[in-house]
Amino acid sequence: MTILTLNAGSATLKFAAYFDDGERPLLHGQIEHLGPSTSDPPPRFYACRADGQHLLETVLPQRDPETALHHLAAWLETEVSSVTAVSHRIVHGGPRYSRPTLLDDEAFDYLEGLVPLAPLHQPHGLAGARILQQQLPQARHLACFDTAFHRTQSELQQRYALPEELFRLGIRRYGFHGLSYQYVAEQLPQVLGERIGRGRVIIVHLGNGASACAVVNGRSIASSMGFTALEGLMMGSRCGRIDPGVLLYLQDSLDFSSADIADLLYRRSGLLGVSGISHDMRQLQASAHPAARRAVELFCLMAAREIASLVVSSGGIDALVFTAGIGEHSALVRAGIVERLEWLGFRLDPEANHQTIATTSCISDPGSQPSLWVIPTNEEAMLARQAARWLEEHQSA
Ligand code: ADP
Repeated sequence: MTILTLNAGSATLKFAAYFDDGERPLLHGQIEHLGPSTSDPPPRFYACRADGQHLLETVLPQRDPETALHHLAAWLETEVSSVTAVSHRIVHGGPRYSRPTLLDDEAFDYLEGLVPLAPLHQPHGLAGARILQQQLPQARHLACFDTAFHRTQSELQQRYALPEELFRLGIRRYGFHGLSYQYVAEQLPQVLGERIGRGRVIIVHLGNGASACAVVNGRSIASSMGFTALEGLMMGSRCGRIDPGVLLYLQDSLDFSSADIADLLYRRSGLLGVSGISHDMRQLQASAHPAARRAVELFCLMAAREIASLVVSSGGIDALVFTAGIGEHSALVRAGIVERLEWLGFRLDPEANHQTIATTSCISDPGSQPSLWVIPTNEEAMLARQAARWLEEHQSA
């Protein structure tokens, strides 16, 4: 019996299979270079076992996700015993979903209504779920949401200072990266100790998308991302916090259409926009160009500013935890952020920081209060765990 996890993006399908306890991984892989772009290399499907042993690498004949998922379903039939549940990563669950849900017609309808709130992510997740439901009809198909972890936030934390009727229309702070935050939050008492782990912890997820979340006693109480995945920290190609007056000016005085503005904010800003070189932190760190250094500096400044602002919501801070690609690998960025927060009492251990690459580790001086940590995230593992818990709760159903 197996749980399959599926994370369907615009050009990449990431999947993993777990035993149905949701804890022991069996295999993982991805199908990349999908979608309309004909200039990309041909679609590539590869998979390996949990221990790293190579299982498959092949080129697919077509770029469309439907064909790709058909190949995935057929291949899985030969590799794993029957798939009990498929845990689909769906970015937006709106105000309704604070937990995983079974993907029936009503759930699909509601989630499709949320597409305008996450136009770059929601359609791919839902399309992947619909297709795989046809390919694997015997399995339970569940939606697990990036917004769900944040539904514990108070109503005040979810508000913008806009008229009440707009709040009621759903214009509120949702928060994202919830699967990642929940995975890290569930480890806090064990890694940081009961007292600090259940205290006031800020987790910073620094990947291509980046955000920060204040967690108190394991629950989200505030986050830097709000209505969409644009707000807050500077990201690979997204701008983060911006004066909304800039958007009015672009529209009214520079003749930007709404499509131009979306393209600017989602695809041409952030590290890419500021450096003019790349959205990729590794490449910027390797570059001696002043524009690359400027982008990295601004990234650190904006992250520090958002973290400090979240400390107001948590009423203080006992620990800061870095996670995701940049957070787990970049000692330079971690140091650049912590340097700007020393006034909060942080004392980085430069050697521990330098040596920590994608492992759970304390990177502050023994006397530092608050303390500093790296905890690698694993969204696939969280998807599998949520499905296993759902199956257990609905065993008799
Ligand atoms: P995604 O949000 O797509 O899941 P990841 O969490 O994998 O992204 O993070 C991708 C980011 O991590 C990229 O900017 C990449 O350059 C950065 N990164 C990965 N390894 C390193 C490294 N060794 N040093 C600096 N940045 C790194």
